[in-house]
Amino acid sequence: MKESITSTEFHFILRQARNVMNGHMHANDEDVLAAVGQMAIERAEQSAADLPDELAQVIRMIGNIREREDFDRFRERIQPFVRPMAEVTDMELKKMFPKVKNLRMPKFAEAVRKELTYLGWNDPGTNRKYIVFEKGGGFTGFYGQFRPSGKKGVCSICNGIDETGLFLTETRHAGGETYTKRGNYICTDSMACNRRLDDRTRFDEFIRSVKNS
Ligand SMILES: [Zn+2]
Repeated sequence: MKESITSTEFHFILRQARNVMNGHMHANDEDVLAAVGQMAIERAEQSAADLPDELAQVIRMIGNIREREDFDRFRERIQPFVRPMAEVTDMELKKMFPKVKNLRMPKFAEAVRKELTYLGWNDPGTNRKYIVFEKGGGFTGFYGQFRPSGKKGVCSICNGIDETGLFLTETRHAGGETYTKRGNYICTDSMACNRRLDDRTRFDEFIRSVKNS
């Protein structure tokens, strides 16, 4: 089985499956439910540019989802097709953050890395949030000051509503004399953020907004 879809595509397909499950929980009209199922399949099929036949077959099972158990089984069938984010070695981490002493990064199991577009973790000792993602066959990473607000808000990365905090980055301009500060409200819980992230362009836009400041 080829690992052919990304984490965001995985979450997008699961969102369609969830729509079908919720439809069956809240509606009875067979025609409406059939239409909801058909639309979910079509949208899921459009999630990835080049769907292998094996995966396309599994996606068509979305139409048979009725309850939570069906959804869970569907999720298990799709999961093997997801390409996990690569593992970051200690050496790569050191290379990304050469000035940070004793940096600890949580370990992410393969099943978890299938759900991730980025690795994000909070370092309460320094009030920082670290963000690492794959780029050009390697990794790139940065950190910003981060303080959870304790309030719910819209996240700049996943567009979901959850507890957020202000992620503050500082970029030194060429020449080195001036700085620009940039703030984005993002999810405190980066794992939950990744699980909601079903559109890669949103993450890329966030990166651009931090880097071009
Ligand atoms: Zn988020």
